Amino acid sequence: MRVISLGEGEPELAVVACIHGDELCGKHAVERFLADDPTIHEPVKFVVANEAAVDAGRRYVDEDLNRTFPGDPDADTHEGRLAAELLDELAGLRVLDLHSTLSMAEPFALYQRATPETFHVLQRAGIDRAVDISHVPGGLVGYLDGVAVECGIKGSDAATENGERILRGFLAGNGVIDTEFSLADPEVFSVTERVEGTGYEFIAENFVRVPAGEAFARRHDEELTAPEAFYPVLMSTDGYDDIVGFGARRLGRLSELDH
Ligand SMILES: [Zn+2]
Repeated sequence: MRVISLGEGEPELAVVACIHGDELCGKHAVERFLADDPTIHEPVKFVVANEAAVDAGRRYVDEDLNRTFPGDPDADTHEGRLAAELLDELAGLRVLDLHSTLSMAEPFALYQRATPETFHVLQRAGIDRAVDISHVPGGLVGYLDGVAVECGIKGSDAATENGERILRGFLAGNGVIDTEFSLADPEVFSVTERVEGTGYEFIAENFVRVPAGEAFARRHDEELTAPEAFYPVLMSTDGYDDIVGFGARRLGRLSELDH
């Protein structure tokens, strides 16, 4: 884990990169931001999380860090220990956690704790779609207020560019840097199920409603359908080993939700 703190005093904000070692957009976005030697008005912390996995060019060393929280300082795995260290380092901070994906190019946000602090981050991340993924345990944002952002397609320049724009919006919206920003009112979805399966081709579109009974994935002659309409989230042909992705329902705009 590498920690870079900017500004005077105790930070209330943190930007996290490389929870997954093969998703470099966040690290590159942070490096680009820091290379400009920015003027900082409030303290902020930048954390490159799983450096060992980055060095190995892999998603993780022993197990998926984002399924490992809260972890344990005496855990048997690298990620188990790292999860506990990260929660210690980030305790009490509002977090922007940058990821990339194989599921879609357009950025979207994921959150698990529906708190005012989380929604504060969500409004300032400048993203049109957000997903409550509290259905899926073990993630960083299940233990901290804030959001994970899928910045774009893994390994693409666009993901890094999106990551840097999102990072700057988050910092500007919190008074850390002087950059214009506007509050977002994202469309919010809530994950209701994991869709199990290996070797399926995903044939629908993420965040686009799949009507009841319509095929959304295919393997040879076999098709996957659902008895009720739903919205695919994080679904892809090659994104996961054991699942196609997640099924969600649409909750409405953030401003329409009770919170
Ligand atoms: Zn990730």
